Amino acid sequence: MFIALGSNIGNRDEHLASGRAAIAALNDTFIVAASDVDETEPLGSRQQEKYLNQMLAVRTQLQPAQLLDELQRIELANGRTRGERWASRTLDLDIVAYGDVVLRTDRLTLPHPAIEARDFWVRELAQLQEQL
Ligand code: ATP
Ligand code: MG
Ligand code: MG
Repeated sequence: MFIALGSNIGNRDEHLASGRAAIAALNDTFIVAASDVDETEPLGSRQQEKYLNQMLAVRTQLQPAQLLDELQRIELANGRTRGERWASRTLDLDIVAYGDVVLRTDRLTLPHPAIEARDFWVRELAQLQEQL
């Protein structure tokens, strides 16, 4: 299972570290590998600051919807406010893939539909595959 972290406000490294710590603290959940941290251009408006991105390989007993609940709780705990899509944020936590699960509900699409379109995700996924 793969989780993507992103931050482009404030101390970006600290937000990623705080996200990693909170994920590692979830019940029956373990970070088994971490990609390098990449700096990337914002997806939406060019007015935004650059992002730091990182991907984690995670093992968890949490089901996809439960995991999304926890990730959204962690985002909020790290000062995330919900504006428009791709707005600047302290911490974004996306489920990139959950095993072989294919899902399309109002709040969760798996695998994440943007994988192929984001070069940095493809690169980070390849890095993680090498470590597993
Ligand atoms: P993107 O998903 O394109 O990277 P974003 O991360 O900026 O955009 P958010 O504002 O963080 O988008 O989330 C919008 C909604 O996306 C969330 O409320 C969540 O319900 C939904 N969502 C659907 N699929 C996923 C997924 N695989 N991981 C995380 N959120 C998802
Ligand atoms: Mg995102
Ligand atoms: Mg998101």
